[in-house]
Amino acid sequence: MWSNSWRLPVNSTGSNLPELPATPEIGLPLWLLAELTYRCPLQCPYCSNPLDFAQQGQELTTEQWKQVMRQAREMGAAQLGFSGGEPLVRQDLAELIGEARSLGYYTNLITSGIGLSEAKIEAFKQAGLDHIQISFQASDEEVNNLLAGSRKAFAQKLEMARAVKAHGYPMVLNFVTHRHNIDQIDRIIELCVALEADFVELATCQFYGWAHLNRAGLLPTRAQLERAERITNEYRARFEAEGRKVKLIFVTPDYYEERPKACMNSWGNIFLTVTPDGTALPCHGARQLPIAFPNVREHSLQHIWYDSFGFNRFRGYEWMPEPCRSCDEKEKDFGGCRCQAFMLTGDAAQADPVCSKSPHHGVILAAREEAEHATAPLSDLSYRNERNSRLIARG
Ligand code: SF4
Ligand code: SF4
Repeated sequence: MWSNSWRLPVNSTGSNLPELPATPEIGLPLWLLAELTYRCPLQCPYCSNPLDFAQQGQELTTEQWKQVMRQAREMGAAQLGFSGGEPLVRQDLAELIGEARSLGYYTNLITSGIGLSEAKIEAFKQAGLDHIQISFQASDEEVNNLLAGSRKAFAQKLEMARAVKAHGYPMVLNFVTHRHNIDQIDRIIELCVALEADFVELATCQFYGWAHLNRAGLLPTRAQLERAERITNEYRARFEAEGRKVKLIFVTPDYYEERPKACMNSWGNIFLTVTPDGTALPCHGARQLPIAFPNVREHSLQHIWYDSFGFNRFRGYEWMPEPCRSCDEKEKDFGGCRCQAFMLTGDAAQADPVCSKSPHHGVILAAREEAEHATAPLSDLSYRNERNSRLIARG
């Protein structure tokens, strides 16, 4: 029997350190992200997969994934995302969806649409899939296909977006925006309207994995970002006036914020990611941290979530150095993102440098400044493919 009242030790009094709020109770792993595979036919230069994905271990078997889903459900997981890589390359996807449905999950397939077909959509529907999200690289066929590394990608995505809608799913489209496509935001929104999308996620690139490697070529300027947000707001107002239901979600990149996001709603609190080889992570970017995260092949999820070092490392407030430790905003953002702190300062316990109170905030200001002068063409980006991944892994 698991216990959700397990607590980390609270701050002892008597030290010169500021008194900390009581460490919150550990939440339930409500969201399970199943990264079924790192295989993918596309090569997005902003992919959040690890740079060395090609060197990662063997994928979990169908039965091992079913065990993960069962254990997580017993612990309270309610939402299950099938992601990757491209989850459609797994031949057992319909079987896994069926298992998830029988366990009572709300399921979401996060896909590029490549490898999807009418027959698969039908099979997934029969298996009980609740939700499909298709990602696009751009509204323009040439840019989309260049970024994706496939001459057929755009046409296939359009066809599958229409097919998903025709099968009665809510249409959810995701566009990762960056300096090479954000100026087409109006065309992106128009395309989504033409495809009868119900939800549109305009997610400005966040700089993890391959996006971090390519940051100088992807970070938009402030002017680009402000224009895109203004146009998105104009469309929102127009849709509301016309009584249209399409919902536009605009995600600003951390690099243009002064406070960090409450990453994953705090470490090990709601989100549980399991990677293709069974490594369990508190967020999908955490693999890069110098922490030996546990593997579902060796440990139960119960142990992983409540007792493992990796999942407890940044829970609560005790781990925080200054300026977070005595900051009155720490219960709001938990010091920001541990991966971003590690990538930008070399120390995962630092305040997220996005925060203007961080002594390392200068790296963010420098990146913004660099974006003002960047000229890198699309062809200079480092694309996410097996060859590049192996080269990077070899150093
Ligand atoms: S971001 Fe692009 S390359 Fe990465 S998994 Fe998704 S479709 Fe594949
Ligand atoms: S100092 Fe730390 S806790 Fe305070 S706002 Fe910045 S990141 Fe958040």
